This record gives sequence, structure tokens and C-alpha cells, in this order.
Amino acid sequence: MTTAIRFYAGVSTSGGTIIEVSHGKHRLVFDFGYVFDLPRHVFDGTIRPGGPHYLADLLALGLLPRIDGVFSEERLRGTAGVAGAHAEADPTMVLISHPHEDHIGAIGLIDPQVPVVMSEDAATLIRTLHDLGEFDLPRNVTGVALGEAFTFGPFEITARYSDHPAWGSVGYEIASPDGRLFWTGDWRLHGKGRTRVLGELASAKAAGIDLLITEGTSLGSALPVDPSPQPAPPGSTVMPDGLATEEGVDAEFSRILAQPGIVILNIYNRDFSPLQNVLALAREAGRNVAVQADVALILERLTGELFPVYLGREGYQTAEATPGVIAELLSRATTVDAAEVAADPSHWLVQFGYPETAELLAFAGAGGSYLHVGGLPLGPGSPEHTRLQRVLDTVGISYTQSTRHVHFAHATPGHIALMTELLDPRQVAIVHAPYPGMTAFEPPVGRRVPAEAGIVLHLDHGHISEPAAASDPGTRPPQRA
Ligand SMILES: [Zn+2]
Repeated sequence: MTTAIRFYAGVSTSGGTIIEVSHGKHRLVFDFGYVFDLPRHVFDGTIRPGGPHYLADLLALGLLPRIDGVFSEERLRGTAGVAGAHAEADPTMVLISHPHEDHIGAIGLIDPQVPVVMSEDAATLIRTLHDLGEFDLPRNVTGVALGEAFTFGPFEITARYSDHPAWGSVGYEIASPDGRLFWTGDWRLHGKGRTRVLGELASAKAAGIDLLITEGTSLGSALPVDPSPQPAPPGSTVMPDGLATEEGVDAEFSRILAQPGIVILNIYNRDFSPLQNVLALAREAGRNVAVQADVALILERLTGELFPVYLGREGYQTAEATPGVIAELLSRATTVDAAEVAADPSHWLVQFGYPETAELLAFAGAGGSYLHVGGLPLGPGSPEHTRLQRVLDTVGISYTQSTRHVHFAHATPGHIALMTELLDPRQVAIVHAPYPGMTAFEPPVGRRVPAEAGIVLHLDHGHISEPAAASDPGTRPPQRA
């Protein structure tokens, strides 16, 4: 018997990576989100999902792969060529590396019998987003501790810290009877957690990795390729290739926070490190901090600290749609309104998102910066950004975004090469790699093996044999009943 590795989706796209690793009747599936490619998505927030037909519609549109044994028969609505979940005959576990939409977005569609596992922090975040009405989760998820191995059938699995900005980001080391795999999830080696990542890689290397499956988001991009990549020493703000480290980005935040005028923070509420960094730096700069109620709830559940809640001009958080969980939070929190901030703008950082853009009008003449560190709008050039800029021009607040803040959630090309040297895998598969140049990448250590959607690799005594001919996962007949 061998361990089979099947690539379903998300190889040459950013995210949406879905891979199956099976041995006998047991299998692991990781991750379970949507490809990050907005024009491709039909359900744009205006086109309504078709209720009970939603899953079948996604499959028909090719927005999720046709994968057996994961979805409930009922929700498949007779979709041809996809077998429903039957937990006893077909034991399946889904592993999630981190709570970004391209890795976790579709877990609410998984049959409740199929366990869905992620780190404890990721599980806390996703349950909180569900409580806030921001994520559809009609099922349980299981949080696991980092570094503590658990088993599923013949597999032994260990979650390993990856320092991607999303709360609770991990990769997984997976031991099967035929060899050991390491799935990186999304990762980086220029964040403040890089020393911890190096420790994780050393532990995995000691165990002996036969197949490294790494994200290659930056491969073939315009980022420089460092010919002699080494992790920047702790505290350094610039890497040898001239790119900023997370400390370098912090230094840029501090510079902005030291200037007079208000600072408005727009941030993606699933990302812990930039959020916590900016809030800490704002306090160091002598600014008071207030955040939207949903962010306050997330921060409280994950860190134990309840931040003051920003209510805008007229208490927009307490509108009639306020979920019970927000009302409960507001009954305990210190609240801050726009008038209080406008009276002393240079001593405040307030966080609110793109939907609250009109709230900027409370700060006409205050001066200062709109610090955009993630979340909508996607960036200069998008229609949303044009609208935001018009409001900022009206009130006289300057927009500031370093592209480094955004692209830098992922490993650089040099660090992907370095990863193979640090981990010493026998074989390397690259996924989650949207640039065509990813095909040219040759790992310094380890043999690169093909990883296209539909390909099946077989791992036997640590060795990957040539893949079986690709069969389109969208049309292949069901293998399990
Ligand atoms: Zn991703």
C-alpha cells in the first residue's frame, strides 16, 4: 500500500488549495477555501447565493472542486459525479492551516460528520466571526495545540507555527506509514516570529521530511530573488535583498503615528500581527486607541484585553441589526464617539473599515493619516479605492499604504529556496503559486515533483514515483460510495 497525494485545486492560483492525502480508507484533506480571484467569483455580494442550492451551484460553476466524501448528500442536490460524506466507510478529516478566506472559506459546506481541525487560535477566531454574523459556520470545528501530535487512522499530525499574519496560522507535519509530509500553509520568514519558525523547521527536519508541499505565492513575482537568503537577525528592519522585515514595517507605522493629526486604521480583522503591532505602537506614540466592536470582541477572545470601542458619530455599532453578542460587549466596554476624538485628534488612533468611510467626514480639518493595512478596498486603482480617496480628499486626511504591508504576508522567493535547505526534503511540490514563473523554480535541495490539479502522486518508502496520468477532478467518476 502507498500513500496517495491528490491535488484538487489551488496549485497555480493564489489560495483555494485543496489537497487530499490518503492511505487505505483514511484520508486527510487540506485546506478548504476559495481561490483568491475576485473576477472569477459569481457571488459578489450583490448576486444572491441560491439558498439550499448554494453548494451545488458552486460545484457547477467550478468554484469548488468535485471532491468525494466531504459534502452531505442532501446539500449536493444530486450533483453528478460527487459522492456524499459517509464517515464510517470513508473516514475523512479536514485540516485548515489558517483562517483566511482562501484557506477556510468553504468549511461551512462540509458535512458535520467530517471533523474540521485547525489551531486553537484559528478556531477561536472563526467561532467569533460566526457569532458576529461574519462567517457561516453551521458545524463544529476542533482547535488543536501547536506542537502536540494527534492521530487520525494511520496518520500522525502535528501543527507547526508558520508566522503568517492570520490568527493561529500553522503548517502541518503529517507522518503516514509510507513517509513524512510537511504542508507549510502560508508562511514567512521575515516576520517577528521567524526565530520560532526556524525552530519548527529544525524539529521537522530532525524527523526527516520526504515531501515538502509549500506555498509559492511570490515565485515569479517582481520581488527580488536574494541569491544568498538568510533570515534577517531579530530586530533588523531590512533584509539583505532590501525588503523590509516586519520590524521595518513597524518602523514605518511609528513614523506615521508620530505625525500630528488623527490616524485612522483600516485593517483586515482576521490578521493578528499587523493589528496588534499598530495598536501597541500607537500607545507607545502616546495615542489613545479605540476599535470597532467586532474587532474589540475578537481581540478580547484571543488576548483577554477589552479595548475601548469606537462608536462613530451616532453610535453606528448600536444600529438595530446589532447582534446580541455586540450588545453584550457594549454593556461592558468603554465607548468613544467621534466628538471625543475630534476634540484632540493628534492623540487618537481609531480603527474602522471601508463600509464606515462616511464616518471620515467627522474629521474634516483634523489632518493626519488613513493607514490602510488590509481589508477593503483592495488597493489603488479599484473603484472602491477611488471612492475612499474622494472622501479623504474632502476631509484632508492623507491615504498611506505601503505595498510591503500587503504582499509581505508570504515567503519571499529567496526564503522558499532557503526553506528547502533548512528542511532538507527528498521531494518538493509547489502550490498556491499564481505567477507563471513558478514553473522555473528549482529547489536547491530536494527533487521538484509535479503538482497540477488532477495529478496523483504515490509516496512509498519516502519516495514519490512518477505520477499517474492527470484525470480531471471535475469529471472523474466517484470512487467511493
Ligand atoms: Zn493563502
